Amino acid sequence: MAFSKLVKPESSELLHLTVLRTERLAPHWVRVTLGGGEVERFRPMGFDQWFRLFLPIGGDAGLDRVPAKANKMFGYLKFLRIPDGERPVMRNYSVRAYRPATEAVGAEIDVDFVLHGSAADGTAGPASRWAETCEPGENVLIIDEGLTFNPERGVDRVVLIGDETALPAIASICSSLPETATGTAIIEVPSKEDALEFPHPEGIDVVWLDRPHEFPPGSRALSLLHDLELPAAPFHAYAAGEQSLASGVRKHLVGERGVDKNAVSFCGYWKIGAASPASKAARDAAAEPLA
Ligand SMILES: Cc1cc2nc3c(=O)[nH]c(=O)nc-3n(C[C@H](O)[C@H](O)[C@H](O)COP(=O)(O)OP(=O)(O)OC[C@H]3O[C@@H](n4cnc5c(N)ncnc54)[C@H](O)[C@@H]3O)c2cc1C
Repeated sequence: MAFSKLVKPESSELLHLTVLRTERLAPHWVRVTLGGGEVERFRPMGFDQWFRLFLPIGGDAGLDRVPAKANKMFGYLKFLRIPDGERPVMRNYSVRAYRPATEAVGAEIDVDFVLHGSAADGTAGPASRWAETCEPGENVLIIDEGLTFNPERGVDRVVLIGDETALPAIASICSSLPETATGTAIIEVPSKEDALEFPHPEGIDVVWLDRPHEFPPGSRALSLLHDLELPAAPFHAYAAGEQSLASGVRKHLVGERGVDKNAVSFCGYWKIGAASPASKAARDAAAEPLA
C-alpha cells in the first residue's frame, strides 16, 4: 500500500516566537531554544517535523510584514515585496525537541543549527551566522510544515541516513519510534566532536562517520550504505542532507537493491554552492514576474 510522502501539519499559521537561550554544543553546532510568544499554538508531531523559519535580519519591522502563507506561492510573492534589507531570511529547520509547558515554564522548542563556513570571513550563510550570534529576546516567525517521515510507511524496521543537517531530524525520529524498533542510523558529521549522541531504541544501531576535508559532504555515508546489510523487507528508509546524498540513497536503494520506492522517504536539505532555495513554491514564484 502506498502512503503519502508527507504528513501535513494541523495548522500552517505564522507563529511568533522568541529566542529564550542559546547553547554551543560542539564545534559545528549551536542549539537555539525558542518559546514565548505564540508557542502554545504550536502542535508537536514528533518524527522529523520541520518548519519555515523567518529570521529578523532586517529587524522586527521586516517580521511584522511577513504575510500569512509566505510558504506558498502567492504568500511568497508578497513576501518578496518586502524591501531588501528589511525582508527576513527564510530557511528550513527541524524540531530537535519540544517540551510542553509546565507550571513553572512555558513550552519550548529546541532547534539545532549546523554552523558552516565562517561568520568572520563572510562564508557562512545568513541562518548559520544568525544562530551563532543571536541573543535571548530576539523575535522570529515560524510556519509548521509537518513531516517527511510518514510513520505510516513503517516504524518497526528503519534505515535512517543523513549528514549533520539531518542529525536533529534523525534524533527526533528515534525518540518517536517504538522502543521495539530495529534498524540502522548512519550519520555523517564534520568532526568526531560533532557526533551529538541521542537516545534511541536499543535495536537501532547508530553508526557515526566523521568527514575529513577531502570528502564531499554525504559521500562517506553513501558509500557505507553500499556495504550495509539491509533489514528484511518491508522496512522504511529515510535519507536527508546534502542533495546528492538524499537522491543517491534513494537511487541506490530503489535502483540497485530493489527496495519499493514507496518505502523510501527522502529530502534534499541543502545543496553545495547554492543558498537555500526555500521551497518549490519559492522557486516557482521567484521565476514569475512580480505584479
Ligand atoms: C526540511 C529541512 C529541515 C532542515 N533541518 C535542519 C536542521 O535542523 N539543522 C540544520 O542545521 N539545517 C537544517 N536544514 C538545512 C538548512 O536549511 C540549510 O543548511 C540552509 O541552507 C542553511 O541556511 P544558511 O542561511 O546558513 O545558508 P545558505 O544561505 O542557504 O547557503 C549559503 C552557502 O552555504 C552552503 N551551505 C548551506 N548549508 C550548509 C551546510 N549545512 N554545510 C555546509 N555548507 C552549507 C550553501 O551551499 C551555500 O553555498 C534543513 C533543511 C530542510 C529542507
